Amino acid sequence: MSFDVQALRAEFPILSDQVHGKPLVYLDTGASSQKPECVIEAMSQYYRHQHANVHRGIHQLSQTATDAYEATRDKVAQWIGANRREEVIFTRGTTESINLIAQTWGRTQVRAGDRLLVSELEHHANLVPWQMLAQSTGAELVKIPLLPDGTLDLNVYEAELARGAKLLAITEVSNALGTILPLADMIPKAKAAGAVVVVDGAQAVPHHRVNLAEMGADFYVFSGHKMYGPTGIGVLWGRFDLLDSLPPWQGGGDMIEHVTFEASTYNTLPYRLEAGTPAIAEGIGLGAALDWLNSIDFDAAVAHEHEVFDYARQQLKQIPGLRLIGEADEAAGAISFAIEGMAASDLGTLLDHQGIAVRTGHHCAMPALQAMGVNGTTRASFGLYNSRDDVDALIRGLNVARDILA
Ligand code: PMP
Repeated sequence: MSFDVQALRAEFPILSDQVHGKPLVYLDTGASSQKPECVIEAMSQYYRHQHANVHRGIHQLSQTATDAYEATRDKVAQWIGANRREEVIFTRGTTESINLIAQTWGRTQVRAGDRLLVSELEHHANLVPWQMLAQSTGAELVKIPLLPDGTLDLNVYEAELARGAKLLAITEVSNALGTILPLADMIPKAKAAGAVVVVDGAQAVPHHRVNLAEMGADFYVFSGHKMYGPTGIGVLWGRFDLLDSLPPWQGGGDMIEHVTFEASTYNTLPYRLEAGTPAIAEGIGLGAALDWLNSIDFDAAVAHEHEVFDYARQQLKQIPGLRLIGEADEAAGAISFAIEGMAASDLGTLLDHQGIAVRTGHHCAMPALQAMGVNGTTRASFGLYNSRDDVDALIRGLNVARDILA
């Protein structure tokens, strides 16, 4: 394979660290990816030499900071295939982006009796805001159920669409099971039924190229920290006309045009939806992450990651008593499993003592795990920097854990 994973790993300082005296084997990228040196350096440079507030100052530093921060908006627009930079709204992350949609579009457009279609696979971030909206408006929350293999029941989906849908809220890639959803098939049907489509791209953007112009969604959301950027910054993308029709969300600085004591007029997009001082260093860090993604051979890196993912699935299946939770053919990023007679938390702890970082528990997707008949799983999740060596370490670690727990 031409892709040089060792060279890529060398760009991530933390991957040379030790945990509990053992070399770190990081298999928790689904929760948050590690950061390359250039991202860390860009944020440090900003605080050392460029820091000032953005959008307000006449002075040089403020201008420099504004330019660096706003450049990220263009980089995001380019990376996801947005038509206009004004369609990129910065938020704190996926969770805040979805809450913004629910509280602006939802509060003004959703009425009692409207049907909100949400898949059973969603992260709580793409379920709870819709539950809250349904409770406050009298709308109906409608489940698109999971099948035992971790894919969605598309027959039920079509039947529910036929009964009418105001909203389809759907993930592109499941953080809990790794399932990739067939959005190219699902979205046109939702649009034909008149639904507004919100896609949670948190686990998709780090694992493959996204083209929003082709996808046909109305809103698309993701977090910087899962795509090699910092925490505290994320994106809400929306179709311009739809975003432009939204009422303001939070009130304060930056989102206004003119203010009297009694009333205000509001700024244009994107600022109308971005009240207050933003996460400037984090925005600059996200820009550096996108520069980094543009600088590597992303397609080769993704092919490498998928190869490691497939290898991991095969190797895990060899472990006696291990059951994969979710076995969709189309999957990426995360592999969930359970081992007969062993609690996920015990497995996670024993792996941690060997320097192997995995996630255990419900992965913020309790309904999905309930549908799969488990309370929790052990989840190994992958990034561009993982290699077969990490998988081999995981398998060795699981065998050690089995010997201890047996
Ligand atoms: N959706 C999915 C699919 C996720 O994986 C996550 C993070 N685990 C979220 C939403 C929430 O992202 P954040 O915590 O960055 O807001």
